[in-house]
Amino acid sequence: MTAKSMEELVSLCKRRGFIFQNSDIYGGLQGLYDYGPLGVELKNNLKAAWWRSMVYERDDVEGLDASILTHQKVLEHSGHEATFTDPMVDCRACKARWRADHITGGKCPGCESEDLTEPRDFNLMFKTAVGPVDDGSSFAYLRPETAQAIFTNFKNVVDATARKTPFGIAQMGKAFRNEITPRNFIFRVREFEQMELEFFVDPGSDEEWHKQWVQNRVDWWVAQGISADRLELLYVPEQELAHYSKATVDVMYQFPHGLEELEGIANRTDFDLGSHTKNQADLNLTARVEPNADSNTRLAVQNLEAKSWVVPYVIEPSAGVDRGVLAILNEAYKVETLENGNERTVLSFKPHLAPIKVAVIPLKRNHEGIVNKAKEIKQSLQSLGLGRILYENTGNIGKAYRRHDEVGTPICITVDFQTVEEDNTVTLRDRDTMQQTRMPVEDLAEHVAGFFR
Ligand code: ATP
Repeated sequence: MTAKSMEELVSLCKRRGFIFQNSDIYGGLQGLYDYGPLGVELKNNLKAAWWRSMVYERDDVEGLDASILTHQKVLEHSGHEATFTDPMVDCRACKARWRADHITGGKCPGCESEDLTEPRDFNLMFKTAVGPVDDGSSFAYLRPETAQAIFTNFKNVVDATARKTPFGIAQMGKAFRNEITPRNFIFRVREFEQMELEFFVDPGSDEEWHKQWVQNRVDWWVAQGISADRLELLYVPEQELAHYSKATVDVMYQFPHGLEELEGIANRTDFDLGSHTKNQADLNLTARVEPNADSNTRLAVQNLEAKSWVVPYVIEPSAGVDRGVLAILNEAYKVETLENGNERTVLSFKPHLAPIKVAVIPLKRNHEGIVNKAKEIKQSLQSLGLGRILYENTGNIGKAYRRHDEVGTPICITVDFQTVEEDNTVTLRDRDTMQQTRMPVEDLAEHVAGFFR
């Protein structure tokens, strides 16, 4: 089950502290959202899962965290100054602005007027002044993708790590696009985060690697709890490819507002490394070919007549963190009718993504023995390093369970009289089955660590 509408998700996100409109108290700034107490945990957990699978669980990827402000030359040579544009039309009737490719039937999506201007190109990059004098002579761009800093640091990483192809450089972080019509909650925003891998391979092996990465990325999204039947692959038609791409496969997801892109996996060839060297004859952006690498690489080496240095081709899986968060919220959202006829809302996140891992709840809020025991359990579980363990002393156990169902906490632990007066056992309540079991306090750490492993 998923959310019935985007409104359902927006309302839950605000009510429970996942996501807020930015600058809300001043009427909001369009296309910007802030992550609240639970949203920041969910987003960090998603990013951590990506980093684990891209960097820690592989032996052929290095990490990077580069600056957001970007030198004008980088984005000139990458082609973004000239081509990172969307066609924009104005509605003369209601004065709204739209992306030309979002208009259907020649009518303004706002007021339905047909009195529209001709499309004109609008560059999506944000500029900002650098240094104390804002006279337009010294400016930088806010990066429109994290990828470029991977290309400009390519030689640094190769020199520092002696990597040979095939290998990758991964980066997560903010990107900025002055979208003409930001919309659909956090789906299309002006400030967002990307998780990007640039995977450098030998020319000739690129198409095979492209296929492998598409499969790898679909599998990863499914492992985050996205159901495979709400994912679709779109092979982007040649006339719609970005300026750097030889082939792109978009991983599309059935969002509450429709089927749209969650991640793009592009074969960027040697376009970027090539463009950054074209104007600097003494700059060498090549990598050594691994002589004992797999058959893909051996094939490429033969094709290159055994040359051992190449300007690699690059396969780029580029995912949006915010679109990922939206898809995961949508997948996790369920409304269930209970036996007594009441309804409960549950976010059934995969355990590793849950913003709160365990809530520890004292049954009596003013009972010193119970309260102290609950605090002690919280501290000992917190030290396992699993993420946020919440001590929650609100005094109404039924309400606490409902609240934790609604924010997706997989385990609630309740400390009661039996714990402190009889046998040092606590109640564990499972979010999905609602079943309650008693367990000795001394077994908790092992059980909880095992659950989240
Ligand atoms: P779209 O066609 O939807 O505008 P795009 O093809 O321009 O997206 P890419 O340049 O491939 O997007 O960027 C890679 C990823 O970054 C996208 O798959 C998406 O998840 C994310 N992304 C891009 N633009 C935005 C945005 N305005 N808001 C949120 N996420 C975005």
